[in-house]
Amino acid sequence: MHDIAFLVYAPDRQRRKNNSFDGNDNVGAYVIIEVLERAGHKVAFCGPATAHRYRVVLVSFTSTYDLYAFYRAVALRPDWQPDRRPFVVVGGGFGLQNPTVVRHYVDYAVFGRGEDIVADLVGQVVGGGQFTHESVMRLPEIYSVKVAQARQLYHGPRFKEAFIGCPNKCKFCHYTWARRSMGNGGQYVQDTLTHGNSPEILFKQIGSISRKYGRIRTAIDGFSERLRVLYGKKITNQEIVDGFNHIGAFAGNTVVICYNIGNMPTETESDRAELYDLFKRIKPRHRVIVVLHTTPFRPSLLTPLQFAPVQLDPSASALRFKEIVSTGTFMAKHSMSNEGPFSHLQCVVAERATPATDRLFHTICFSKKLRSQNSNGQVRLLEAHFDLSPYLRRYDPTEVHAPGWFLESYVPTRMIRKAFLWTEKDPAGRRGRVAKVKGL
Ligand code: SF4
Repeated sequence: MHDIAFLVYAPDRQRRKNNSFDGNDNVGAYVIIEVLERAGHKVAFCGPATAHRYRVVLVSFTSTYDLYAFYRAVALRPDWQPDRRPFVVVGGGFGLQNPTVVRHYVDYAVFGRGEDIVADLVGQVVGGGQFTHESVMRLPEIYSVKVAQARQLYHGPRFKEAFIGCPNKCKFCHYTWARRSMGNGGQYVQDTLTHGNSPEILFKQIGSISRKYGRIRTAIDGFSERLRVLYGKKITNQEIVDGFNHIGAFAGNTVVICYNIGNMPTETESDRAELYDLFKRIKPRHRVIVVLHTTPFRPSLLTPLQFAPVQLDPSASALRFKEIVSTGTFMAKHSMSNEGPFSHLQCVVAERATPATDRLFHTICFSKKLRSQNSNGQVRLLEAHFDLSPYLRRYDPTEVHAPGWFLESYVPTRMIRKAFLWTEKDPAGRRGRVAKVKGL
C-alpha cells in the first residue's frame, strides 16, 4: 500500500479537467513526486473521498483560485474535519501564499521551493512525528515563515530547469520577489508549457526575433508608458510600436497574445487612451493580430504593491472580444477571457484573508444565491452583506497585520516596503527606479 497520495480535486474553472494535474501541466507537483520517489516513497493519486486510505495527502495549489476549488471539494466532508481527519495534509505551490482560508483543512503549508523539504517532512509525518522548518507553517496557526529558495536548478529524470525567477523587478510580480533568480533568466523565453508552439518572450527581446512564429505570447503590463515605468516594466511607447512592426516583418499572419495589467493604482482613462492611440501608429508589413489580455491589478503578497489599493472594474466583462483598432495589416482586440470583477474580488479576498474572512469565504464557495448572479451582481450582493474594505483598501506598510505580514522573502522586508513608498512619492514615474537591492 502507498502511504502518500496527491489529491486530485475538481476544477474551479470549466476549461480545466482538474486543478492539480491534467488540465494545466502541473510541473511543480510532478517534480515533488519525482523527489519523493527518489527518496524511496511511492506516491499514488486520490480524490477527496479516498484520501482516508493514505497517511499523507499532498495538495498542490497552482493559483489562488485553487483555494476555492479545494475548499469546495473538502470543507463539507465529515472525514476532512480537523478533529476527525485520519490523515495529514501537506499543501504547497504558488497559490498558497496565504493559507488562512484553508487552515483547518491543511496541516502543513510549505512556502516556496519544496524539493529540499518535502522528503524529510513526509518521512517524519509517515513515521508519526511532527515536522518543523523555517519555511513550513504548522496550521491552523498563522505565523512568520521564510519562503524557501532553490539551492540549484532542478535536474531530475523527467524535468530539467533552465532558470528560476526573473532578473527584472516589476513591482506587482510575486514571482520575481519570491524566487531568487538563477540560471538563464536574462533570456526569459518560456515555451515548455506549450511545447514550443507559442513561446513567451519578454517584450524587450522581441526585436531579437529572427524568424516567423504563428503565435507568440508577450506582456506589456500597463496601459501607458507612465504606468509601465512607475511599476517596473519600463517599456516605452516607441518600443511597443517597433516591437509589433518587427513581428510583422515576417511573411504570414502572426497572433500575439499580449498580457496586460489594468486598474493599476493611479490608472486613469487617459492611461488607457494612450495605448489605444498608440495602436493606431503600428503599421507592420504583414498581418499582426494582437489579443490584449488585460488582468486586473491584484496586490500580490511579497511584492511592493501588496499594500496598494484595489479597484474592481464593473466594465471589465463588457470589453471582452471588443475590437480596439483595425488598420490595414494591424488589428488589436480585447481578449475573450478578460476577468470580471467577481473573480478579481475572489482573488484579493483569499490573498488578504485573515481569520475574520472565514464567513465571507464560505459564502463565496457555497452560496446558491450568489451563483445565480452575473459578475457585477455577485459583487453587489457581497457588498450588501460584508465589509469588503479590508480587501480593497490601501495599507500602510508598517501596520502590524498588513498583507503578507507572515511572509519573509530573500529580499529584505524593509526594501519591499520602501519600493512601495517610492511608487507613491513619484506617481509620474519620472525616476523610473526599481529597487536596487544588493544581492538580487
Ligand atoms: S512581470 Fe516583470 S518581474 Fe515578473 S516575470 Fe515578467 S518581466 Fe519578470
